Amino acid sequence: MKRIGTHVSAAGGVQNAPLNAQDIGARAFAFFTKNQRQWQAKSLTEKEIEQFNLNMQKGGFQPADILPHDSYLINLGHPEAEKRQKSLNAFIDELNRCSQLGLVHLNFHPGSHLRLIEEEACLDLIAESLNYALEATEGVTAVIENTAGQGSNLGYRFEHLAHVIDGVEDRSRIGVCLDTCHAFAAGYDLRTHEAYIETMCSFEEIVGFKYLKAMHLNDSKPELGKRVDRHESIGKGKLGEDAFRFIMQDERMDEMPLILETIDSAIWPQEIKLLYGFCE
Ligand SMILES: [Zn+2]
Ligand SMILES: [Zn+2]
Repeated sequence: MKRIGTHVSAAGGVQNAPLNAQDIGARAFAFFTKNQRQWQAKSLTEKEIEQFNLNMQKGGFQPADILPHDSYLINLGHPEAEKRQKSLNAFIDELNRCSQLGLVHLNFHPGSHLRLIEEEACLDLIAESLNYALEATEGVTAVIENTAGQGSNLGYRFEHLAHVIDGVEDRSRIGVCLDTCHAFAAGYDLRTHEAYIETMCSFEEIVGFKYLKAMHLNDSKPELGKRVDRHESIGKGKLGEDAFRFIMQDERMDEMPLILETIDSAIWPQEIKLLYGFCE
């Protein structure tokens, strides 16, 4: 079964996220366990955790259906040791928050070299940070997301993801989330069946489907390979509807969170229906 959801709001507390997902007919969801634009966060209270679990049950969600996203401030490959440590501490805190909520994934962006070091050196730092974070925590898999390659962000080539995974000691706790808009912006075509097969074969060869834990389903405002990260509603961008039809008919994406981060939340229920329609 396909599990489609969106990145829902957790305004008013994390316990509201499963309810917001249920409201729009989602079978999966993503959310921030804290304010994504701030370093500090209040600890989760017993009451919030209890209510979150209750609302997970109400919505019929299992832990693996949920893909929490970490803060945009975190850069595990920061070239400066002090700033990298600050990111690492925040990342460990996020892993712990997920585990407190009984969740099993944390989605993150690899990191940026800020034009201060080589790509490869930055990827090595990311793997080193992950080893430290996984050692310091339990039970949660770090799910690395491919990026559009805007600015100095790494993770826009499948080889980058493979390089990081290669450097991680406990590979049972590292996974990948493929974002369709980011892939397309980075030059991976998905618009025709032929292009879809070619891109997915290359993913299998370089990274491996065994690491695929989730996907972000977004159309793209920019053209193929523009290295600009601008999401669009499904079927309204340069990627087009067919790419999503191929994904919905690909059983390798069964039973994992397929998350919309599209720009118009008013049409999320229709987008979810449209995508489920492609499964038939
Ligand atoms: Zn992301
Ligand atoms: Zn994404």
